[in-house]
Amino acid sequence: MQLLDGKVLSLQIKQELAAEVAEIKSQNGKIPHLVAILVGTAGRSETYVASKMKSCEEVGMHSTLIRFDDSVSEEELIQAVRDVNENPDMDGLIVQLPLPAHISADRVMETIDPKKDVDGFHPINIGRMAKGLPAYISATPQGILEMLKRYAIETAGKHCVVVGRSQIVGLPMSILMQRNTYPGNCTVTLTHSRTLNLAEICRSADILIAALGRPEFITADMVKDGAVVIDVGLERVPDLTKKSGFALKGDVNFDEVAPKTSYITPVPGGVGLMTICSLMQNTLKAARGEVYH
Ligand code: NAP
Repeated sequence: MQLLDGKVLSLQIKQELAAEVAEIKSQNGKIPHLVAILVGTAGRSETYVASKMKSCEEVGMHSTLIRFDDSVSEEELIQAVRDVNENPDMDGLIVQLPLPAHISADRVMETIDPKKDVDGFHPINIGRMAKGLPAYISATPQGILEMLKRYAIETAGKHCVVVGRSQIVGLPMSILMQRNTYPGNCTVTLTHSRTLNLAEICRSADILIAALGRPEFITADMVKDGAVVIDVGLERVPDLTKKSGFALKGDVNFDEVAPKTSYITPVPGGVGLMTICSLMQNTLKAARGEVYH
């Protein structure tokens, strides 16, 4: 069993990004700029956004956080998105989800200029990704592809099972793994909460990607010997032995599953760190005008 180490990879990628940021700065004085819009202070969104902003600063990019109270109206939020769209100094924009119930996340996402949609959530980017055209790819699936690539994991002809069909992880992941490219060319099965015989399907996976948000749901009896296991799940579970009072758990029961695998991601220290790198890579692409010319 070998760990797919997000810590090592993310350090490498951050070094590469820092060099590239320095290069474009020296060429034309341009500093890639990521903007995050955060509504409210509830849940883990604040922590996620803070670590995205901090990572940008670490590689020499600019970052701006625009905050709103929970009471912000949909129109106000949409106007803020339009303002960023029109600001030539701002290259990438993310709107941290979830949004309060009175705001349509779909409407907000559709307002983001696809050229600045570095989270890859705009329908145009999702459609372009599905067609294999240049597009911003959703950060978590892109981070997983990067991980497979950097560990040179063979994917062609493999059976890839994705558990979870969310718009931001499972669905794009399933599309990406079947594309006629590397990483890709898998035979993909996309599963969800209504899937029958889930354990049996998982057991047939050469590559198992768990993105369901149910701590330690994937147990050893659901995993084939030698499988590659990617654990996207990231949930807090109470743990009184920790100072914080909680531990972070993935969707895979790591201790019992790891010995059966060829490669596996740890939680924390796996996919989550890759997600942030993808966001910065996309912001760099946006600053260079690489995806849309
Ligand atoms: P989500 O929107 O809640 O979607 C969960 C998916 O899992 C749904 O499609 C659901 O099926 C499916 N599911 C739930 N219970 C299931 C079960 N018992 N059997 C089979 N499928 C089941 O979740 P998400 O946003 O994709 O996030 C999933 C997990 O990944 C969470 O723990 C989240 O924190 C984590 N995450 C981590 C990162 C990172 O960077 N590390 C990024 C994003 C998300 P239905 O569609 O039928 O309801």
